[in-house]
Amino acid sequence: MANLHTPLQSMQFRRLGGLAQVWEVPRVGGRRHKGWDLLADVGTAVYAVETGEIAYTNYDEDGYGHYVVLKFQSDLGERYALYAHLSQISVSSGPVNRGDVLGRTGISGNAKRKGGGPPHLHFEVRTAAYSGAEDPAILFGKPAS
Ligand SMILES: [Zn+2]
Repeated sequence: MANLHTPLQSMQFRRLGGLAQVWEVPRVGGRRHKGWDLLADVGTAVYAVETGEIAYTNYDEDGYGHYVVLKFQSDLGERYALYAHLSQISVSSGPVNRGDVLGRTGISGNAKRKGGGPPHLHFEVRTAAYSGAEDPAILFGKPAS
């Protein structure tokens, strides 16, 4: 397995109702969580997990907030890493290197809702630019909590 960079320097899962907010944890409305929530004080740097290129950046007021999507090659083929609820995005397009700072964490989008708990990064791995979320543990290993 290629040695991917972690999206944050400190990888600690957000907990809601005692449950680590990992892949497919149940959410309100019968939905399931499609990524990892990692605790991060507002302004924490997020890193490119691998050398690749910025697929796109976007803003989704009711969901991801400010987010950036990085396209990269993994041992399992092309993948996309999505970083959501950011306060700042430092890239717009083009190539980036493994470990580059892509932006800063925040509480944009639905992360600013009351009762949402402490600030966090929503991190997602996808098989395509706009779909195909999969468990980040497939590439990053099983979470510690
Ligand atoms: Zn999340």
